[in-house]
Amino acid sequence: MAEPKVNELMEKIVSLCKRRGFVYPSSEIYGGINGFWDYGPLGAELKRNVKELWWNRMTRMREDVVGLEATIIMHPRIWRASGHVDTFSDPMADCLLTRKRFRADQIEPQSGTAYHYTGAMDPASGKVSEEPYAVLLPPGKPPESARKLAIQFYQSRGLGPVELQGERPEKVEHSQRFNPDNGSLLTEPRPFNLMFKTYVGPVADEDNVAYLRPETAQAIFVQFKNVLETSRQKVPFGIAQMGKAFRNEVTPRNFTFRSREFEQMELEFFIKPDEVVEALCGRVAKPEAAGHPGEPRPDWGWQLWHQYWVEERIRFYESIGLPRTSLEEYWQKPEELAHYARATVDLLYKFPFGTQELEGIAARSDFDLSQHERVSGKAQGVFDEELRTAWGKLAPEVQQRLSESYFQHRRKYLLRAGAAEAEAEKEAREDAAGLAKGQYIPHVIEPSAGVDRLILALLAHAFTEVTSTDDKGRSETRVVMRFHPSVAPMKVGVFPLLKNKPELVAKAREVFEVLRGSMLAFYDDAGAIGRRYARQDEAGTPYCVTVDFDTLGETPELKDTVTVRRRDDGSQQRVPIGALRAHLLEAIR
Ligand code: ATP
Repeated sequence: MAEPKVNELMEKIVSLCKRRGFVYPSSEIYGGINGFWDYGPLGAELKRNVKELWWNRMTRMREDVVGLEATIIMHPRIWRASGHVDTFSDPMADCLLTRKRFRADQIEPQSGTAYHYTGAMDPASGKVSEEPYAVLLPPGKPPESARKLAIQFYQSRGLGPVELQGERPEKVEHSQRFNPDNGSLLTEPRPFNLMFKTYVGPVADEDNVAYLRPETAQAIFVQFKNVLETSRQKVPFGIAQMGKAFRNEVTPRNFTFRSREFEQMELEFFIKPDEVVEALCGRVAKPEAAGHPGEPRPDWGWQLWHQYWVEERIRFYESIGLPRTSLEEYWQKPEELAHYARATVDLLYKFPFGTQELEGIAARSDFDLSQHERVSGKAQGVFDEELRTAWGKLAPEVQQRLSESYFQHRRKYLLRAGAAEAEAEKEAREDAAGLAKGQYIPHVIEPSAGVDRLILALLAHAFTEVTSTDDKGRSETRVVMRFHPSVAPMKVGVFPLLKNKPELVAKAREVFEVLRGSMLAFYDDAGAIGRRYARQDEAGTPYCVTVDFDTLGETPELKDTVTVRRRDDGSQQRVPIGALRAHLLEAIR
């Protein structure tokens, strides 16, 4: 029942992050604040690079995705429509003795003997507590330690000396009802809503409650119609957004993995319902093989779009240095899926503390737009002239089959949303009749990633310890952060071989000026050259450039060339200064 051994590798990563300025505890001089982290100079660059790469790949490089930047605080009814007010909660339980708080569903199950007490009496005052209490002991441990804890518990309830009452041992298997640190009984689990609440305006009452958004996705849904009307996009198309999200996690942990303030990168990709695809194309193509299904086609239904986005996201991770082998695809089982979801794939990364979710890619049906239509009273469907024309040309039995399938889906949604049977029937019939008029509510595929979890995965993946032995037999272990060049915070270090030779310094400054407009370069002339390389290796800088006497012409044929050293193998290459910028730009892509 001891605290699990803290993962050594994680400790090293956390310490490097602090020492080198990747990540600091927030508000550290005031003792920190649990679940909040700041990114230092290197971390800020790393994060910016990751976000820019995501944004470029997901929006700028695509004709079918546009961006959005919405506010963090939005109308509170949004969170009612999305279900967050009613259901966005985790079960929480507190230790009855220390008051330490736990996510009840994440407590390591324990077995042993639980000693139950019906209450206790203070023989001096005659005062009695009838509060039941229990302590779980591992197998073979004598009951005295349970009694000691129980006495402490009743004393904390106002008794002086304590006589325990009604002790009863019970064998317990895989229980999550006890504090894993001390065996004390926990409170009954109760739901805890994860949204941070605040008030808008000067009056702090229930009428003015607002929430810090727990995800960026909802803003995309509520702006769907505006974007559709102003961007000249047509379904299928996507809206991407990244930004802060806030969740009052019960137990933030694993460094930045589970934070209370974090950033998300989310895409809502709106697609036609399968009935519409069939009406337009005569068929709905089905996945034929695993892997990337290739360029999107008009006959794709939700399954192919979903497969496409799973593969696209894996390709993104590969492109920034997380190979497929470092990831795992977890397809949620039918019983794990949200009621509206048709499929959800979690992309997991093998973190040092376990294989855990980096991103979720969900086929969410038309749930989100439908909810906002219902709650806001504003139509969220689209009109498609091609559908209207195509529908008119369909054989009556095809029309009948497609409209029945659409009707059934809508009816199911409406009933779940709380509509009465007759109302659901009527509305769903109207929705199905809309197909003939070219109207439908788009479905959505949602790849939703966390920036901070990705940064942590990149840090963990890059972290390498290298041991070298010098000519005197002394060995030294140092850290090399093997970031993919595209995400590395700094791209190149520029050094004069010696600091006290003005010609070398002047030339190195010249080279630095040439590079810094095009990439993040770092000038360093302090200490031995080996030390300078080591410092850049630890920061993850993929290349270092050294200006030496040959640069100045000591060896005539090497005049105006510099040494370019690669971080990952220490290999060196002479490159003419005139070609250096292009050479490095190519290398850091
Ligand atoms: P988990 O089950 O780990 O709490 P989730 O399934 O609730 O995550 P989503 O609601 O799907 O997460 O959010 C999408 C992404 O946002 C997650 O894949 C993750 O990368 C990121 N994310 C969610 N919660 C946090 C958090 N507390 N700290 C950092 N990142 C988070």
